[in-house]
Amino acid sequence: MRRRRRVAFIGLGHMGSHMCRHLCTYGHHVCAFDLDRRALARAARSGARPADSVAECVAEAEILITSLPGPPQVQQVLCDPDGAIAALPQGALIVEMSTSSLEVGRAALAAARTHGCDFVDAPVAGQTIRAEAGTLDIYAGGSRKAFGRALPVLETMGDPTRILHLGPSGSGYAVKLLLNLMWFEHAVATAEALAVGIKAGVDLEKLHTALVHSPANSNFIERDVRMVLDRGDYDEGFAMKLVTKDLGLAVDLARDVGVPAEMAALVEQIHRRARAAYGDAAGEMSAIRLYEDLAHLTLRSPRSSPPGP
Ligand code: NAD
Repeated sequence: MRRRRRVAFIGLGHMGSHMCRHLCTYGHHVCAFDLDRRALARAARSGARPADSVAECVAEAEILITSLPGPPQVQQVLCDPDGAIAALPQGALIVEMSTSSLEVGRAALAAARTHGCDFVDAPVAGQTIRAEAGTLDIYAGGSRKAFGRALPVLETMGDPTRILHLGPSGSGYAVKLLLNLMWFEHAVATAEALAVGIKAGVDLEKLHTALVHSPANSNFIERDVRMVLDRGDYDEGFAMKLVTKDLGLAVDLARDVGVPAEMAALVEQIHRRARAAYGDAAGEMSAIRLYEDLAHLTLRSPRSSPPGP
């Protein structure tokens, strides 16, 4: 039998809007809040009860889920004196699903414990397309008990075979920052290789096929870059403002644990340059556009069609 919970959801953007909708569709009693009134209206159409403030949103919640831009918003929404933790009923569980920092996670965990609440960091991967499908990858950190409590709601938003409990609090954030770092390193490596290859006179599709069948293959070159090559789609579902936030957090993490990470720092700067060139809202593949512009070429398959509306 389905166990329906009183769930509060804060942060109804590209990812959160879909995650909230899946919770409503499952049958949970969802109360939602976002600073953006249009996002809130969209959540109401999905079946959530809209709240006027963070405190009102969480007042009766058994579980609070947050999907916010980054550490400052997570800190503010959870830890401010008029924030969620102060207003949550004792014993509630907080599932923090933003890509955020271990430092803010530690502050939120401490505040949650003081208030008699549990806390799990559970950031996600899979782009908006898998948020929409309810098949996200989820990387959780926290006690076994807290993870066990979170799992049933996580399964309404993620692929049950790809919801990983990675260890104590902070493990989820760490793994998410590192996988993003590697993915955006692959983006730069791929853009460089394709631009150089074209300039050297190799046909784009032949170069792509050869690389995919070589020891240098990656998910990025085999699958993800195809959206640029086939449709000129730089994926505006994940904005460069958030990309550079994530890369900055990964570089900070390396510094905090004392591991030199020169490539991470360089790749962060390349993506910052792409953000400066194309704007905060430009899509996450904008570093590829940067290489196209630097090399005065367009990386498009002869079969490509323009992105849809
Ligand atoms: P977004 O900017 O589209 O959504 C964030 C939402 O939070 C917005 O609706 C905004 O109005 C709201 N918000 C901001 N401050 C708030 C506050 N103080 N109180 C209430 N609401 C507030 O971001 P997104 O793309 O949905 O990403 C959300 C999180 O998921 C980020 O941490 C991001 O790094 C991570 N993420 C995004 C993707 C993606 O493809 N978009 C993929 C994986 C992870």
